[in-house]
Amino acid sequence: MNVLDSELVVGSLRRQGYELTHEVADADVIFFNTCSVRQHAEDKIYSALGRLRGHKKRHPEKVVGVLGCMAQKDQGLILKRAPHVDIVCGTGQLARLPELIGAVRDTGKPQTALSLDRTEGRHEVERSFESYDPLRDPSMRPNRFQAYVRINIGCDKFCTYCIVPSVRGPEQSRHPEVIAAEVRQLAAEGCKEVILLGQTVNSYKYDMGDGRRMRLSDLLARIHDTAGIERIKFVTNFPKDMTDDLLEAVRDLPKVCRYLHVPVQSACDEILKRMKRQYTAGFYREMLHRCREMVPGVAISSDFIVGFCGETEASFEKSAALVREAGFKNSFIFKYSPRPGTKGHELYADDVPEEVKKRRNNDLLAIQTKMSLADHIRLVGERVEVLIEGPSKNGLKQSATGPIQLTGRTRTDHIVVFDGNERLAGQTVMVDVQEASAFTLYGNIVTGDQVGALFCGPELSAGSQRIGLPLL
Ligand code: SAM
Ligand code: SF4
Repeated sequence: MNVLDSELVVGSLRRQGYELTHEVADADVIFFNTCSVRQHAEDKIYSALGRLRGHKKRHPEKVVGVLGCMAQKDQGLILKRAPHVDIVCGTGQLARLPELIGAVRDTGKPQTALSLDRTEGRHEVERSFESYDPLRDPSMRPNRFQAYVRINIGCDKFCTYCIVPSVRGPEQSRHPEVIAAEVRQLAAEGCKEVILLGQTVNSYKYDMGDGRRMRLSDLLARIHDTAGIERIKFVTNFPKDMTDDLLEAVRDLPKVCRYLHVPVQSACDEILKRMKRQYTAGFYREMLHRCREMVPGVAISSDFIVGFCGETEASFEKSAALVREAGFKNSFIFKYSPRPGTKGHELYADDVPEEVKKRRNNDLLAIQTKMSLADHIRLVGERVEVLIEGPSKNGLKQSATGPIQLTGRTRTDHIVVFDGNERLAGQTVMVDVQEASAFTLYGNIVTGDQVGALFCGPELSAGSQRIGLPLL
């Protein structure tokens, strides 16, 4: 979500004549787009702001801004802790940045633009969290073949550990036709894969005003036939909203990737209740079973929080058991970080010591790594379809004259590296998987003749028809 916000901010400033620089010394305007999901992310911003203090003193004409979730959360505290900051701008006010820069230059005074607190009237609060997504800038994306598209903003779930509902506001879905137009625009710019974004993307619903209510499954069907788009992914899913109509859409629409990120957070019912996740471990297991039954070959990943208030060894063991049995492709594992302003912080003591959180984090990671390796090894010997994203980290260091190491992803979001010409970036190719680690598959690109034979294969999905012959 923050990557997309940064892309949009750069897009709007480019329209004002700004250019992007990676050198702080060259910049006229310096922005930090921030996260406040965990304390560590905030600490990093405050120390980066501290390092900038001397630079700003020497160059008072430069404009320094703090944007996003931490701006919305800390508000005036930012100006107290870092008085050299000129702009504090929350997630829902980013469209106002050009105006705020102008006001700083005109008045020499700090400017603050924040959305309303959620205790105000719902309608007013909603209006204060604006989305200005149409301002796209292809040059800001890591590659022009893939793009994020926001379909809903905010969140109404209020999990007790989570700051997102306060800093990103109420859940609001965007009009399906606006989303469809954005996807068409991206496709016209050469984009092949869109990743639909929402804090709880599968809670998407839009009342069309004529009795029809569009759900995520309807939206997927609506954008599916956009010419040029080969793949559609969506993140992040809320377990309770993983409905059968959505799974049917994933099964039946060939461009929709068979990959679901569905965070569970914990597999202990007492902890889930304290987290206010609205489901039990049993419900989550049943949902996993339903996903695998209805969508053959689907890859599933998850998030876990370890060391939440009251988590005992026995409750942690329940999460460990789920990781051992669930067959997740991967999991993101976080140590609980108390967030002032959340119910969890107000109601429960942060009673799991830091070293215990650290150990549980490492233990769960070790189990998941073993399971991810098993999941990857399963694919050795298979031929997979890969959308090439560009040179891998190693490839970037290699000479550009010969083949270099490229990286891309399968439809199930598995990362694959293989050798090939850099010009292949953006093409969809077939790769024979030869080796696997817990995080990566290694293989050889299928040559022209082999691809020709492949076109006749009965198991090809409709998406595979766009495979170009690789130029080796
Ligand atoms: N909306 C998504 C969902 O419901 O799963 C996740 C949004 S949150 C930005 C991403 C992940 O951060 C969560 O899944 C959770 O694992 C983690 N997270 C959120 N608040 C946290 C906290 N206070 N401490 C540690 N991890 C946290
Ligand atoms: Fe946070 Fe829960 Fe909303 Fe996800 S569903 S953003 S974890 S409150």
